[in-house]
Amino acid sequence: MNQSDHQAALAAIVGAANVLTNAADQAAYLTDWRKHYTGRAMAIVRPGSTEEVAAVVRHCATHGIAIVPQGGNTGMAGGATPDTSGQAIVMSLTRMNRIRKLDVTDNSITVEAGCVLATIQQAAINVDRLFPLSLASEGSCTIGGNLSSNAGGTGVLRYGNTRDLCLGLEVVTANGDIIGARADGEVRGLRKDNTGYDLKDLFIGAEGTLGIITAATLKLYPAPRARVTAFAALATPRAALQLLTLAQQRCGATLTAFELISDLAISLVERHYPPHRSPFAVRHPYAVLMEISDHEDEAHATAMLEGLMEQALEDGLIDDAAIAQSLSQSDDLWQLRERVSEAQAMEGKNIKHDISVPISRIADFIETTDALIAAAWPGVCMVNFGHLGDGNLHYNVSPASGETEAAFMAKQGPVNKLVYDSVERFGGSISAEHGLGQLKREEILRYKPATEVALMRTIKAALDPQGIMNPGKVL
Ligand SMILES: Cc1cc2nc3c(=O)[nH]c(=O)nc-3n(C[C@H](O)[C@H](O)[C@H](O)COP(=O)(O)OP(=O)(O)OC[C@H]3O[C@@H](n4cnc5c(N)ncnc54)[C@H](O)[C@@H]3O)c2cc1C
Repeated sequence: MNQSDHQAALAAIVGAANVLTNAADQAAYLTDWRKHYTGRAMAIVRPGSTEEVAAVVRHCATHGIAIVPQGGNTGMAGGATPDTSGQAIVMSLTRMNRIRKLDVTDNSITVEAGCVLATIQQAAINVDRLFPLSLASEGSCTIGGNLSSNAGGTGVLRYGNTRDLCLGLEVVTANGDIIGARADGEVRGLRKDNTGYDLKDLFIGAEGTLGIITAATLKLYPAPRARVTAFAALATPRAALQLLTLAQQRCGATLTAFELISDLAISLVERHYPPHRSPFAVRHPYAVLMEISDHEDEAHATAMLEGLMEQALEDGLIDDAAIAQSLSQSDDLWQLRERVSEAQAMEGKNIKHDISVPISRIADFIETTDALIAAAWPGVCMVNFGHLGDGNLHYNVSPASGETEAAFMAKQGPVNKLVYDSVERFGGSISAEHGLGQLKREEILRYKPATEVALMRTIKAALDPQGIMNPGKVL
């Protein structure tokens, strides 16, 4: 069979309108969000059901055709972009966007892989529940992509990563079998099920290299009665760490977000998204954005945050504080955090690191690594922000004033090595929440023990012996 025979066979499964073969139709699927990678594909295939996914996979398995699964294409590691051979298909799951079931007694929701995250959040709100996964890309990323990259976001501190929110998965394996469904066809979603290896955990975080997630049953939580946001100005990440400990002591499980943002990151948002401004009249080196989710009422939550801020001011941990008095003020404060990635992208290229270290060591990590970078490349700018409450930092390096993009990006290899070696010394991870994709596929070999990489290869070979699932990613 030649390429047009394969395209025709795929069209017979999903319908001709859902097999995109010309360059203009394909373009949006072939470049990643950060515009670091552009690939080519034999076709973009858009199945509308699990059975269609399985039939497409069976065709590809029979003919050895590589499959690159794709959701919202917002991933940060190039995981959803094909290589340049033009031999693979991109399988876009976005047509599979139904909510199959929502059960308030089970506190669970079953959704198809292409469901946009914000749609799931809204479905939960409609029945007075909370689906706590929250990312700045929630308007376009899909739950299949969230699960496949085990996305983190701003609620991890209280609710965990996407993995912790998943009760069951429906998956099409690399030979086209469908697993994860009960005898009646519904996706399993038990809170307790110790019947051997937990297969769903293999597919979560696998970045599409082991199979295709087609649906998931997810945990819901009672909706909090009030969410109150505060913004605190402080001098150092060390002070932020002390504030985190104090906030956890005083607020316990009601503390649902604790985000660190450097002043440079805030000023980028102010420049590119002018309506959003720091609430403080003077500049401070860092800010912390905090959120309390309370099951009593807003007055209770506000009083708790006010008490915390007063003590933090008395203890000298913070220099100023603002507590949002309305939803719109709260949204404004959140924009200062959520717009950082986009504002940085608008500035031009930067060298990004999505790292984690033990929470207790994050201030030491920043101080030590900032000093090493300043000594090696005087003048470059650090745009740090991230989920301090999880020990996860987006530790990004931007060009020195007047430096050309090309000259700056030439430093990428040595900058990465310096940062990742430092992460290693602090007992951390070189990919906290964005995955490996094609971006860190080589680098991970330096930092992950060889025995663990070998075990990963054994799992890959067992589940995808032909190597057709998202080749060239992760491993
Ligand atoms: C502004 C912005 C902010 C972000 N903030 C965060 C953040 O705070 N935390 C965080 O973790 N990430 C963040 N991200 C990264 C990204 O949004 C998340 O990783 C998201 O989970 C990706 O979902 P997606 O549907 O876009 O997946 P895609 O980018 O389409 O794919 C991601 C990976 O999953 C695979 N995949 C996709 N769907 C499936 C499927 N159904 N079955 C098998 N494999 C599949 C792809 O092959 C690829 O390897 C951010 C991105 C942007 C642009």
